[in-house]
Amino acid sequence: MPELPEVETVRTGLAPAMEGQVIVQADVNRPDLRWPFPEQMSERLTGAEILRLRRRSKYILADLSTDETLLIHLGMSGRMTVSGHALGDFYHDHPAPQKHDHVVFHMSNDARITFNDARRFGAMDLMPTAGQDDHWLLKDIGPEPLGNDFNEAHLIAKLKGKNTPIKTALLDQRIVAGLGNIYVCEVLFRAGIHPARKAGRISANRVASMVPIIRDVLSEAIESGGSSLRDYRQADGELGYFQHGFKTYDRDGETCVTPDCGKKIKRIVQSGRSSFFCPQCQR
Ligand SMILES: [Zn+2]
Repeated sequence: MPELPEVETVRTGLAPAMEGQVIVQADVNRPDLRWPFPEQMSERLTGAEILRLRRRSKYILADLSTDETLLIHLGMSGRMTVSGHALGDFYHDHPAPQKHDHVVFHMSNDARITFNDARRFGAMDLMPTAGQDDHWLLKDIGPEPLGNDFNEAHLIAKLKGKNTPIKTALLDQRIVAGLGNIYVCEVLFRAGIHPARKAGRISANRVASMVPIIRDVLSEAIESGGSSLRDYRQADGELGYFQHGFKTYDRDGETCVTPDCGKKIKRIVQSGRSSFFCPQCQR
């Protein structure tokens, strides 16, 4: 499932092919993904110039010359492919249409952007650019973890008195935007905090220590996504998936990476999702 760094990598890969370009043709091959597409989506996109491609949490937002903004969400299995335009050092010819190519944008620079989503948990919507903060998917989202509004004071205030496990609190998008399961596991390992510890029982100092760790974990992942783009050999121009070296995620039963720790990484299930942690290093 794409998380914030993967979505940022997709945005970075799409931007040179889409920004400043006009959507000459928009193929919308079915009426819906997770939710119905907006009415007349193809007509509303055709002829629109993409002024800017942004990211908010795990959503890609394309501001259009029509004063509308296109929201793109990759969901669980959504994939974006660029063809007809150089991606990093590699140029990908237009591929033959695939099953599950649900939306295809033909750009004025001959780039083709294909949204393929086998499981259809992804989404696209159109909203007035001026009213995007009121969009139902965006209005309750907390500050961006890499932005200035996310800071020590904010996190301390949000976690104060909270009876939920810290793992669950960090996954709450109202507290911080875009943090998902994988990166929360990594953050808690680096912070030395047990995922089941009650959020409100963690000292202010330790809560504050998580802020730079959250920024570092995400920035490092975005950086490795960026280098994957610069060296984009993948045959079809698909964006956004790259190799990570996680210290706990999906490593249950393996030895903790902390020198001299020697304990095995454990897995527990919290709110229906796996948490991986070291019982020695995380308290
Ligand atoms: Zn350990």
